[in-house]
Amino acid sequence: MTLVATIAHTERVLSFEDARHVVTEHAQQLSALRPPPTESLPLLAALGRVLAQPVLADRDLPPFPRATRDGFAVHASDVATAVESRPVSLRVVAEIAAGTTATLPQIKEGESAEIMTGAPVPAGADAVVMVEHTKRRDETVLVERAVRSGENVVPRGAEATRGARLLAPGARIDHAAIAVAASVGCADLQVFRKPRIAILSTGDELVELNAPPGEHQIRNSNSFSLAAQVLEAGAEPIQLPIARDNLVSLRELIRQGLQADLLLLSGGVSMGKYDLVEQVLGEFGAEIFITGALIQPGRPVVFGRLGSIRTPPRYFFGLPGNPVSTMVTFKLFVRPVVDALAGAPPSPLPFVQVKLKSEIKTKTGLTRFLPARISGSHTKTEVELVRWQGSGDIVATAAANCYLVIPPDRDRIAAGEMVSVLLP
Ligand code: AMP
Ligand code: MG
Repeated sequence: MTLVATIAHTERVLSFEDARHVVTEHAQQLSALRPPPTESLPLLAALGRVLAQPVLADRDLPPFPRATRDGFAVHASDVATAVESRPVSLRVVAEIAAGTTATLPQIKEGESAEIMTGAPVPAGADAVVMVEHTKRRDETVLVERAVRSGENVVPRGAEATRGARLLAPGARIDHAAIAVAASVGCADLQVFRKPRIAILSTGDELVELNAPPGEHQIRNSNSFSLAAQVLEAGAEPIQLPIARDNLVSLRELIRQGLQADLLLLSGGVSMGKYDLVEQVLGEFGAEIFITGALIQPGRPVVFGRLGSIRTPPRYFFGLPGNPVSTMVTFKLFVRPVVDALAGAPPSPLPFVQVKLKSEIKTKTGLTRFLPARISGSHTKTEVELVRWQGSGDIVATAAANCYLVIPPDRDRIAAGEMVSVLLP
């Protein structure tokens, strides 16, 4: 019995949910292994990376009771009866600007201090009346509206107390995390090293970008879309030369690709005569967990691991070569594994419910992730499929801004129904 026959017999075509479950389980196992090595980066260079250290509050946040409005710091009890027709008059004893270095006054009953947004609320005062609800008269202010105790003031330490953990290791560093790190003075951050993701496109019809394509040849766009998705995931793409549809070329380049932390292959996993990827992976002793998923696009997706005892284990994906299939299967299945290799826990897919703009008719049996456009305002948001020529149509996909998800049991969805949408 040949290896080809061995592999052909272990078909594992799973539903979308089951396939996703299999990859996230493996991603979790990867996360449980030794954490990746770390490096220190200047704060802004850490954007998109995964935090390897906790970020702690170096002092209370805010470090002083902070006024959130321009106005007058008062005793709320002094102005409890204030209305426009019967304002309460208070003496103004100080002016307090943001960043003030002056000693703050103690505000006594009947007194107030003019105060700016971001300035410290002085002792005694327990609220800030917005300037819009006051009239200044020389040394006094007329307060025309009552305030609750605590209104327009964030108490010292209300956001976090000194020593509190503001960001945990494993957090993906986005702009808000950058703000948190900056606010506690982290000029550098310890992050996990980027995993190296090998990308190998296969196909006799492919040419590199700098070569003129022959009449029946196409450019190797998948190597670039995958590299872009790898970069977006905070990892390092390694674009290998195109593998040809023969055993010699595939063996050599797959061997190279397996040196990286993860190998992504595109093409060569369908049922065609020259789809040899699974066979070559079989020769390398691969254990294959998924040989297909009941999805469109992306049905022939393959996921596996080198069978030999290697530490850490070497995972690979054989992604269908159709360009939209390649993009979708990366998002659905590859991303959790890249996240795990990058030191981040697998994050859930970003699904939202949106109202369908026009009717959809399709066939049952597959979960579909079709290029679509969300449009409208925040009060009326709708989604609609973009017209496409199937899973090779990158032009339509580039014009889309999400994927509309059609469950496998629906052959018709009426306009106005809420549908699930996968955000980019
Ligand atoms: P395959 O999965 O190898 O059967 O390829 C399916 C379709 O995707 C064919 O039309 C291929 O020409 C196309 N294709 C395969 N690889 C790539 C690639 N790297 N870039 C763009 N299109 C590709
Ligand atoms: Mg091919």
